[in-house]
Amino acid sequence: MNIAIIGAGVSGLYAASLLIEKGYDVTVFEARDRIGGRVLSRDDFDLGPTWYWPETETTITQLIERLSLPTFSQYTAGDLMLERQLGVIERHTLPPGHIVPSMRLVGGMASLTTALAATLPAGMIQLESTVTSIRQTDNEVVIELEAGQTTAFTHVILAIPPRLVSRISFQPELSETTKEKLENTPTWMAGQAKVLAVYDRPFWRDNGLSGQGMSWAGVLQEIHDASQPDGLAALFGFFRLSAAERSVLDRDELNRRVIDQLVRLFGEEARQPREVIYVDWSSDRHTATVQDGEPLIDFPLYQPIALDPAWEGRLSLAGTETDSLFGGHIEGALRAAERVVEHL
Ligand SMILES: Cc1cc2nc3c(=O)[nH]c(=O)nc-3n(C[C@H](O)[C@H](O)[C@H](O)COP(=O)(O)OP(=O)(O)OC[C@H]3O[C@@H](n4cnc5c(N)ncnc54)[C@H](O)[C@@H]3O)c2cc1C
Repeated sequence: MNIAIIGAGVSGLYAASLLIEKGYDVTVFEARDRIGGRVLSRDDFDLGPTWYWPETETTITQLIERLSLPTFSQYTAGDLMLERQLGVIERHTLPPGHIVPSMRLVGGMASLTTALAATLPAGMIQLESTVTSIRQTDNEVVIELEAGQTTAFTHVILAIPPRLVSRISFQPELSETTKEKLENTPTWMAGQAKVLAVYDRPFWRDNGLSGQGMSWAGVLQEIHDASQPDGLAALFGFFRLSAAERSVLDRDELNRRVIDQLVRLFGEEARQPREVIYVDWSSDRHTATVQDGEPLIDFPLYQPIALDPAWEGRLSLAGTETDSLFGGHIEGALRAAERVVEHL
């Protein structure tokens, strides 16, 4: 039995490693020139996911232990700064136990995807290989890449955000009901952007601040300490501005507003970062669709998405957006991989 996995994010990579353990023949097709999908670390800083929560997320916690990846706790000691109105700053000491403890990986979350990929035989992941069509024959499923190359498999696992499935053509076609379900499943964080201001040292800690900030008025809504345990310091923020609002500001203007806000919250030392790193996931075509630019009002209801009977036993859908308990998180991506592999 040979299996194609489409997508080398956490879900696709983990599914591949589980299938290899079971002795299957596997090929992973990835559209980008790198593995990881939404997991993206640069200079050990996380530009995609940062945290996992060991108290509730057992799959990722055990996997990290099994892969012997070094971890450290998110820095939260000290006070939080709150900006309810522009320029009106409040300092709050949070009651003990108010923050659910989260952990980070030394080297960034990409240490996880790199370690997962290292468990796979060399050459199994084909980068820059966008799958554009999936066709069923009597006893096989033929996938076609953008470049025109076709390969036949016994089974295909889609480990991509549900909304991106509509970019692939299927034969037999997916029903309107299935297409609607896929379209109506928002991709978690796909409308977001992350900005990191890198500093020589975590100066806010000297002043008893945790680096946490909340704002209902600035460009950033939520700010956290993103420092490395023995390396550079950083503050990172998620935006309050929507994808559309961000898109009309040029990068210099956006950076200026980010830094002004960090100065308001954490003091003048925030004025001169070594570097500002910005990643807008809403313009990343391998993550987001136009629909994902719309801000999410509620946490989406994620669950496994059943494909049409014609595809049963031939095609399955993994990816974090298909997990009913931890959908959206890396934990959900891992659990979804376990689910589809168990069903095979
Ligand atoms: C800014 C940000 C912050 C986040 N913070 C956290 C956090 O702190 N903790 C947490 O647990 N989660 C967080 N998340 C969510 C987390 O990143 C995701 O849950 C997880 O990475 C999803 O993995 P996945 O494998 O399901 O999907 P993806 O990572 O999206 O992987 C899908 C892969 O499929 C590829 N692909 C798509 N279409 C095709 C095609 N046609 N052919 C071939 N390949 C294709 C893509 O290039 C991609 O590599 C965050 C996400 C973002 C963006």
